[in-house]
Amino acid sequence: MAGTRVARASIAFTKARRYLANSIVSNLFLVSFIAIHIPLLFVISYTVVANRIDLLVLIPGTLASTVLGVAVSFYFSFRVLSPVRGVIKAVEEYRRARGLKEEPRQRRDEMVELSSSVEGLLSEVSHMLDHLEHKANTDPLTGLRNRRWLFEQAALVFDRARRETSSVAVAIFDIDHFKQFNDRYGHQAGDRVLFTVAEMAQMNVRTYDLLARIGGEEFCIVMPNVTRQQAAHAMERLRLAIEAARIDDLDVGRVTASFGLCVGFPGQEGLKTMLMEADRALYSSKAEGRNRVSICAHRSQAMS
Ligand code: GH3
Ligand code: MG
Ligand code: MG
Repeated sequence: MAGTRVARASIAFTKARRYLANSIVSNLFLVSFIAIHIPLLFVISYTVVANRIDLLVLIPGTLASTVLGVAVSFYFSFRVLSPVRGVIKAVEEYRRARGLKEEPRQRRDEMVELSSSVEGLLSEVSHMLDHLEHKANTDPLTGLRNRRWLFEQAALVFDRARRETSSVAVAIFDIDHFKQFNDRYGHQAGDRVLFTVAEMAQMNVRTYDLLARIGGEEFCIVMPNVTRQQAAHAMERLRLAIEAARIDDLDVGRVTASFGLCVGFPGQEGLKTMLMEADRALYSSKAEGRNRVSICAHRSQAMS
């Protein structure tokens, strides 16, 4: 019993010692404590050794030992804070090398500098991550989201549809004879077509639909909670909008697109499966003469 208590006390003591040895507060306390007591030690030692009080010795001696105490305190405080200065330097060098702006500071002691440097760095890193995430999910040509983003977001839409037993429509569309268009008018004009088609698509989807450019001239729209008629109507509207669009001021006529649409209540399957089915419907559109919307057969039967 007593042995256990001793063991516990020993563990607690070791922990406290480790904390004190590793704590900046205890280190600063120790430095101040020793420094403050240097003049007192001088007074006590002088009194004991000399066995009398001579003010001509006592006053300059106390002043000198106070100066010594201040110097000791300064030196050890400086050493205790040296890792902090190391971190400030590293953060500042990193920010300078990356051209990140420095925040103006009111006070400039080490702790304030450290905390504001680290805060500044974290906020810059967070902005950079947002920017990178946006870049990783965005198609630079059209500004639309890309396939990666679509699959990530569609997983959430499909989960919700399964939970709520609601429908999801997946449409894929592809510009007709785009290779011929590129060959005839050049790649730059082709890029402007892609941009215009993307704009048309953006104007014709609801805010909660997912729209992405998933390939060269292929786009996909995921529409949560729509009936077959609503989805077909929305895609027909988009098809007409693309057909009617003028490609900036280029004298290149019009472009058309073919659509494949798949509507259903998702079970285990996700976007990949429905996209494959929509793709088959798209091939029907192409085979039947292009510039039309085809609806994938067996899934569409599931919807009224
Ligand atoms: P279809 O009607 O059967 O779809 O014929 P298509 O010519 O559109 O189809 P195909 O798949 O043969 O050609 C797609 C073309 O899309 C090939 C390529 O030149 C073009 N393309 C893909 N990505 C880009 C791009 O970023 N910019 C431009 N300008 N063209 C692209
Ligand atoms: Mg294609
Ligand atoms: Mg095409």
